Amino acid sequence: MKRALITGIAGQDGSYLAEFLLAKGYDVFGLVLRDEPLRWIDPIKDRLILMEGDLRNQKSLDHAVRQALPDEVYHLGALPFVAISWKQPVLTADVNALGTTRLLEALRSITPHARIYHASTSEMFGLTEEIQTEEGLFHPRNPYSISKCYSHWIAVNYRESYDMYVCCGIMFNHESPRRGENFVTRKIARGVVDIKEGKQDCLYLGNLDVWRDWGYASEYVEVMWLMLQQDAPDDYIISTGEVHTVREFLEEAFCVVGLDAERNGKKGIEEAYIRKDNGQAVVRISPEFFRPVELTVLRGSNSKAKGKLKWEPKTRFRELVRIMVDYEMQNTRPTQSIREVKRR
Ligand code: NAP
Repeated sequence: MKRALITGIAGQDGSYLAEFLLAKGYDVFGLVLRDEPLRWIDPIKDRLILMEGDLRNQKSLDHAVRQALPDEVYHLGALPFVAISWKQPVLTADVNALGTTRLLEALRSITPHARIYHASTSEMFGLTEEIQTEEGLFHPRNPYSISKCYSHWIAVNYRESYDMYVCCGIMFNHESPRRGENFVTRKIARGVVDIKEGKQDCLYLGNLDVWRDWGYASEYVEVMWLMLQQDAPDDYIISTGEVHTVREFLEEAFCVVGLDAERNGKKGIEEAYIRKDNGQAVVRISPEFFRPVELTVLRGSNSKAKGKLKWEPKTRFRELVRIMVDYEMQNTRPTQSIREVKRR
């Protein structure tokens, strides 16, 4: 039986990957920052071997690697929220950049033959509007992606310096009902359902006209595994190849819940979406959700992954929106105060 160690196992990708590897018969070890709340892995916790550890603490990583003695390592643990990275740039760098180096050091000294997947990100491309390939230049535009450029290159460097099997998945956005609540897709999915059910009056959003390539997280974990089953390690862009705006996501979510609302005012800070049945504003734009520098578009070509890994995404944009909104409709929450809603 193969042994896998997943950092960030309680997060969106970690939880889907844990389910995927259990189904393949792996012994799955997971690093958790704290033992509660386990969130998405709670239902499968008895089938996992969980260890508390922090990417800021070398000893805890050494201990986890010694306990797991993994054949495969999936390094997903990170602080991935761009907006928070501006507020906590030092912590972001410590966890994402140095945390990766600490983990690689533990692996190099304890299990140098383990195969390693590193979660790189399309955000590293930053200010480049062309369709990206694995050879594209990085121009990161926020502390999160800068920390990820460091962790990406240190991962590549351990492959080149020590001949370790390290792969980087340069993943474009991937979403699901398990996405963190601060991310715009989840916020919209929750918000439109709460508005439809009368639990919330208005959803406050930032720039609606940024373009993103959104895939479905549950199918992106398979390709992480595929990267570690090849003859040689390599880096791959993982994307759907389709881009849509936040505005499209919002309008599609309205359709799914059956909320009839139309845009009022010029696009930008003054605009609002108004409910046709009662004239109330259901979406307003709030400057607090604008970033100091924005990436207007992120586009990537997945042809290398298609060709070499024989992997292709199946879930398209409209279906993804439906999956996320349906989940929120089936998991209702108590009414929230306007203050709470705005804070998210
Ligand atoms: P996520 O849901 O936020 O999961 C991240 C996990 O990292 C969480 O379980 C978190 O623990 C853990 N973590 C945070 N700080 C830690 C620390 N100091 N020590 C140990 N663990 C720590 O994020 P995700 O969407 O699954 O993303 C997984 C990885 O893919 C991340 O590295 C992210 O940067 C990368 N990525 C994601 C996307 C995307 O669209 N989702 C795109 C490109 C790259 P808690 O559960 O305790 O908070």
